[in-house]
Amino acid sequence: MRVINLASGSDGNITYIETESSKILLDDGLSCGETVKRLDLLNVKPNEIDAILVTHQHIDHVKGVDVFSSKYNVPVFTHKDVWSGLNDKLIKTSDKNRKSFDGDFNIKDIEIVPIEVSHDVKCFAYTLKNGNSKISIVTDLGKTSDLLLNKIASSQLVYLEANYDKNMLANGNKYPLALKRRIAGSQGHLSNDDSAKTIKLLAESGTRQIVLSHLSKENNSPDLAYEYISRKLLEYGVEEGVDIKIDVASPRPGAIFRLK
Ligand SMILES: [Zn+2]
Ligand SMILES: [Zn+2]
Repeated sequence: MRVINLASGSDGNITYIETESSKILLDDGLSCGETVKRLDLLNVKPNEIDAILVTHQHIDHVKGVDVFSSKYNVPVFTHKDVWSGLNDKLIKTSDKNRKSFDGDFNIKDIEIVPIEVSHDVKCFAYTLKNGNSKISIVTDLGKTSDLLLNKIASSQLVYLEANYDKNMLANGNKYPLALKRRIAGSQGHLSNDDSAKTIKLLAESGTRQIVLSHLSKENNSPDLAYEYISRKLLEYGVEEGVDIKIDVASPRPGAIFRLK
């Protein structure tokens, strides 16, 4: 499996996953043109993409989906309950390319496990398995759950939300109070503290690589998230670089991971 995050954060999210016989995008939150440019960095042509898998209807996850799907005839997969919020955003996507699921399913040689998460619209995290490789992508959730932690446990690689620093969110003066409450609420986003607690459990389950994802531009920074979470983990007895490795995703394409 070859995996790379092509964009992360409130301006757009895309992850590219490739196996021997499949190439898929998880979300396409940049314009179609920009998505094609970023795929070109990997030597991947847009018409080689087998599917776009969508987490939820928010624009930072679906901006490019409609044009990409219609231009290159690519099927769009999302949970049946996500479609109600997505249908009116996808005008050009053909009916035959609107694919819905209601449980685990396969796209070619990739086994896909959707896990519903707590967000202000219907939203899913995903675990993807191919042979012995298992990865999970977990962003846009206000809180974790035992079900989620059980399903993503022992993933070799997890893209995990670390959206905001609690103090920056509380003390910043750019966001109105209602928005601050939404972000910090149980249907909003995960804080650096939430992320650290989750990483401790993942490390114990055998996960060896984390990519901190969907960082807020206003209420977090890559250095702060990395340093704060590494320090928290040390308090929990987990050493970054020894027990687990932590990268930070950004709006630009990140590291390529090859899993066996
Ligand atoms: Zn988002
Ligand atoms: Zn969202």
